[in-house]
Amino acid sequence: MTLTYHSTRNKDLKVTASQAILAGIAPDGGLFVPSFIPKLNVPLAELPHKSYEEIAYAVLQSFLTDFTEEELKECIHVYSEKFSDAAITPLVQAGNSYYLELFHGPTIAFKDVALSILPKFMTIAAKKNKNKNDSVILTATSGDTGKAALVGFQDVPGTKIIVFYPKNGVSAFQERQMLTQKGTNVSVVAIEGNFDDAQSQVKALFADPDLRQELANHHLQLSSANSINIGRLIPQIIYYIDAYKQLLATNKLTVGEEMDVCVPTGNFGNILAAYYAKEMGLPIARLIVASNENNVLTDFFKSGTYNRNREFVLTSSPSMDILVSSNLERLLYHLSKENSELIETYMTDLSVKGQYRITAQMLQDAEAFRAGSATEADVINEIKRVHTEANYTIDPHTAVASFVASHFQNDRPMVIASTASPYKFPEAVLEALAPDFESTDLISALKEVRTLTHNPFPAAIEEALSGEIVHDKVVSISEMKKAVKDFLHV
Ligand SMILES: *Cc1c(COP(=O)(O)O)cnc(C)c1O
Repeated sequence: MTLTYHSTRNKDLKVTASQAILAGIAPDGGLFVPSFIPKLNVPLAELPHKSYEEIAYAVLQSFLTDFTEEELKECIHVYSEKFSDAAITPLVQAGNSYYLELFHGPTIAFKDVALSILPKFMTIAAKKNKNKNDSVILTATSGDTGKAALVGFQDVPGTKIIVFYPKNGVSAFQERQMLTQKGTNVSVVAIEGNFDDAQSQVKALFADPDLRQELANHHLQLSSANSINIGRLIPQIIYYIDAYKQLLATNKLTVGEEMDVCVPTGNFGNILAAYYAKEMGLPIARLIVASNENNVLTDFFKSGTYNRNREFVLTSSPSMDILVSSNLERLLYHLSKENSELIETYMTDLSVKGQYRITAQMLQDAEAFRAGSATEADVINEIKRVHTEANYTIDPHTAVASFVASHFQNDRPMVIASTASPYKFPEAVLEALAPDFESTDLISALKEVRTLTHNPFPAAIEEALSGEIVHDKVVSISEMKKAVKDFLHV
């Protein structure tokens, strides 16, 4: 049986992996999902002898069935090229927990794991499908995706990229990282609104037939680098398997014993990758969904009702300030036993009424999922606690997960996805660890973090600090379409 991709809103739609990657989102507005979840094709006992790259190959080969071995290996090569740690995603023990450091890529956040490789997938996919059009990557970001996508696509032939971010919804450092982005094919635009506004409008642009036609007339076609693209999700499965490998290799687990995973969650992409890893046969007991004060998912997993009708809160973990977690749609599709009509109803209810309620059976089938949330005060206390008890510094996103995980800790190893370097969010780190420090500017704040963590500046910091600001556009939501057309000269 060959693995293909369906839409969550139409089970009969069927495309290849490369077509799903090129399109980003299905034409009916649904998300592409694999026709089945393949079993891990490496015996668990052999994992300790495998490199990150070998595990990556095993995973990608099972999901990207129309890519050749040579093509996949060329893609996988980006990890040794672009990541600063030889382990790619090292697992670090601190106190009772294991922090899976996903931030050793070019923009020091976990988005790099997927966005370093996605441009490679797209270039190959375009060739494979004899695509004559250039791809236009349209992306809404709550901070980290934007920069990682910009770096990934910078000057990649046959692609252009436009990133929209909420003007007051990202950190000063994140904004600086984006506004200093070089490249002849890149555009960065701030919007007056929050992340959900930006994401909804990007989705609307994807579904806009006039825009598609105008672009097609100019040999352009839209694509997405958001985590709704299946090409972003699949590379994220790899590091959960690699984390299990590292626990085996250090004798923290024996073959077949289970670990727990706790993930700071926004758009539900990272935790969904962990779910896929579990479904592939990786011994994961609990999938713990950690939210900040935008805790829609916490309520959802406890009650079965998803309700976005609530106040949107700006927190110290902006990449998780999300009320509509797009990738949850994929989980619902699997839980409903691929009932695409039902998913369509839920998604209509979500956009019309702002809520939906899943069946009791689906909620029961989601029993491996647990959920919890952290307040802003919990986050600051957790950064402090981990630093005091384990001399380890975590960023506010990781702190959300670390706090939630502490309530679920038992004898099983707890793997916490550490999604950003503490350098990326100096304000929160300093509030926790140096409350008396009066930050006058970004540079002195970063230097203070360096003193506290004893870690040298990653290259990403040097680059953002020395780079020249080259973008300055701010538009309203209704002007986003025009911003796209202006940049593309259509
Ligand atoms: C994107 C992001 C998250 C949320 O990940 P999702 O896959 O959207 O759930 C968490 N932390 C950081 C630092 C991020 O950049």
